[in-house]
Amino acid sequence: MLIIRDLSKTYANGVKALHKINLELEPGMFGLLGPNGAGKSSLMRTLATLQEPDEGTAMLDDLDMLADKDKLRRVLGYLPQDFGVYPKLSPLLMLDHFAMLKGVVNKGERRELVDSLLHQVNLYDVRKKSVDTFSGGMKQRFGIAQALIGDPRLIIVDEPTAGLDPSERNRFHNLLAEIGENVVVILSTHIVDDVTDLCSSMAIMGSGEILLTGKPRDVIERIRGSVWSKQIQRSELGDYQKNHRVILSHLKEGHTVIHVLSDNQPDGFQAQEANLEDVYFATLINHGISVSL
Ligand code: ADP
Repeated sequence: MLIIRDLSKTYANGVKALHKINLELEPGMFGLLGPNGAGKSSLMRTLATLQEPDEGTAMLDDLDMLADKDKLRRVLGYLPQDFGVYPKLSPLLMLDHFAMLKGVVNKGERRELVDSLLHQVNLYDVRKKSVDTFSGGMKQRFGIAQALIGDPRLIIVDEPTAGLDPSERNRFHNLLAEIGENVVVILSTHIVDDVTDLCSSMAIMGSGEILLTGKPRDVIERIRGSVWSKQIQRSELGDYQKNHRVILSHLKEGHTVIHVLSDNQPDGFQAQEANLEDVYFATLINHGISVSL
């Protein structure tokens, strides 16, 4: 179990990126949702020991992650948003190198591990091609392969599916779903569907704070019966926002449809089955975080 207590971080420019973050994460997939600038990457980088918090602790079972960085790094798999520049090296060579860094010193053992990872992420056929020629989806699968080296107990995946096409995204999701049950996997994203599809537990972050935590099913249950929808003219949106708590607007067959929150059925609206997107936007709006509709 991963227990985060009172984690705070203010950057040198005065931006308060994390404000007393408290979270308890069981093994399994944990989704961290939040808009750009919420502080997700700051939290991920802190847990990956790439930056220091100002205060707070993070314990992975009995391992004090932030104090015992070397020990943590041995059991951490980290897939950043972007590796930046990809070298002109094959996945075979790179995974072999990463495995060595993670302490797999026996050559035969390393060869076996790398081959099995390449098969697992379906890159075996291109194992000798240069990683910098890979598509976005292939690069992400390579990223997962390097994050899986050495039986990690904690895997951190930062905004993994941005820029992937639907089939690549699907393949990537299937890979994440295969990760062992005893591993804590944190998936940071602003794509609500990724959390709905994959995560047994989740949190919504905004302005450096945790705004809501729970199981997707439970947090949806909390707003069941209070979401209503209506098809409107786009030009009427401003008026509706004045008179209702509009949580989202989307296009359906070319028409604008809005969702509003209300204890009672507003005139002209129909009952709407709540989903995680409703929970997400309602939470942000309830905390005064502006969302563009
Ligand atoms: P998210 O990943 O949710 O988009 P970030 O953690 O990247 O959020 O950013 C949170 C806030 O901290 C933003 O206002 C961002 O501009 C700021 N920030 C992030 N990294 C730095 C940094 N190295 N120095 C100064 N400000 C930063």
